[in-house]
Amino acid sequence: MSDGTCAHLGVIKTVKHAQRRECAECVKMKAQWVHLRTCQECGTTLCCDSSPNRHASKHARSSGHPVVASAEPGERWLYCYPDDGYAEY
Ligand SMILES: [Zn+2]
Ligand SMILES: [Zn+2]
Ligand SMILES: [Zn+2]
Repeated sequence: MSDGTCAHLGVIKTVKHAQRRECAECVKMKAQWVHLRTCQECGTTLCCDSSPNRHASKHARSSGHPVVASAEPGERWLYCYPDDGYAEY
């Protein structure tokens, strides 16, 4: 949960949503995923930390894009990887 020190979540005014309901990296390697997350910097949709390949968190570390939104139907929340911050919208 948020400890209140995240400077990334508060600046997001418009949430980017998934264009396709699939992990862009898993599709290439024919892997499975559990849940999907959409990067709020570049709009790429990748798989969550419950998925075997954890592409969303790898993307956050390698690209420096901190915040993802859940791409699951009915879920309306944002997560910041570097700060472990969470916000509903
Ligand atoms: Zn943050
Ligand atoms: Zn993936
Ligand atoms: Zn990104």
